[in-house]
Amino acid sequence: MQTNLLGLDAQGMEQFFAGLGEQPFRARQVLKWIHRRGAADFSAMSDIARGLRAKLTAAAAIAPPVVVGDGSAADGTRKWLLKVDGTNAVEAVFIPADGRGTLCVSSQAGCTLDCGFCATGKQGFNRNLTAAEIIGQLWLANGALGCHKDGTRAVAGSPRAISNVVFMGMGEPMMNLDAVIPAARLMIDANGYGLSRRRVTVSTSGVVPGMDRLAAECPVALAVSLHAPDDALRSRLVPINRKYPIKQLLAACNRYLERAPRDFITFEYVMLEGVNDADAQAQALLGIVARVRCKFNLIPFNPFPHSGFKRSQPERIRRFAEVLQRAGLTVTTRKTRGEGIDAACGQLAGEVTDRTRRSLTVPIAELRA
Ligand code: SAH
Ligand code: SF4
Repeated sequence: MQTNLLGLDAQGMEQFFAGLGEQPFRARQVLKWIHRRGAADFSAMSDIARGLRAKLTAAAAIAPPVVVGDGSAADGTRKWLLKVDGTNAVEAVFIPADGRGTLCVSSQAGCTLDCGFCATGKQGFNRNLTAAEIIGQLWLANGALGCHKDGTRAVAGSPRAISNVVFMGMGEPMMNLDAVIPAARLMIDANGYGLSRRRVTVSTSGVVPGMDRLAAECPVALAVSLHAPDDALRSRLVPINRKYPIKQLLAACNRYLERAPRDFITFEYVMLEGVNDADAQAQALLGIVARVRCKFNLIPFNPFPHSGFKRSQPERIRRFAEVLQRAGLTVTTRKTRGEGIDAACGQLAGEVTDRTRRSLTVPIAELRA
């Protein structure tokens, strides 16, 4: 069977070349060809001897997911639907904003964690993505945006360049670290995408053991989906809270920060009208996060059919933010992007064959309508 080199990080690539009886510098050369220059086949790799290229063609492949959908919104947001096998497709979203370009990648086809306000959670779970399928989203987006060029990542300052990657698409990255870690390493590898550690953000709903593992193996920036100031409400909104309640979660945040000095945790907080958006709840948040170095990112809820939730009014969000800000916290409110192509947070549904047999009450066609 051919090895898909797309998903191998520096160490994996060295092992692969050692297996072929080749030197480690070959691994670095090929990494650069694939990730910096966007090479899709070995014949283009002009500084690699013809004999080795033939050997590689026989033993390996560079196989990204297949683009089956490509849509752009008026605000420049672009969303790709990527087929990863016969029955599953996942989504990746590019969001340009003044001076930077963020790619939001998926880590699983579906999600097992079933947060009530999330379209991905509602569709069930099929499988983890491989490292090749995760990094393949960045590889494909770079190609589609014309950013591979001749070894440079992109034209500096170009709004089309991908300057940041966030694991905020479909899935819970901490449930798939075997693939997420090599993919994140490729993103920060100088022979890969060369992004700084702080420009790669993993977002988690609070899978505590995963946070500790990521801290130890690849401490990139961390975002934590908090969404509620107390365990009763959080367990209702984010069911994984029953396993890892708020106290444990916040302790894990502080352990993470020990590994990532000078960093902060970004707490994500989805604004649900009449559920978690009262001033008293903002006050309660101040109490629980007092000992964590953090910022807040408020996300106006993005509706999807039958969710049962409503987005908080802009004035309510502003007042909620004010309570946090008055206590000295940095608070941003996420702008809703990608309207018209269902590319906003929590709207990504892709096409997933649900193998969890959890109640899929809403047909996928309807979720995507
Ligand atoms: N599984 C991870 C990462 C993917 S979701 C996590 O839960 O953190 C990325 C962010 O979008 C999370 O903060 C998530 O809570 C939020 N989100 C999910 N559904 C949403 C919706 N319908 N509207 C707004 N934000 C949503
Ligand atoms: Fe999964 Fe995150 Fe959606 Fe919850 S919010 S269901 S953890 S993708």
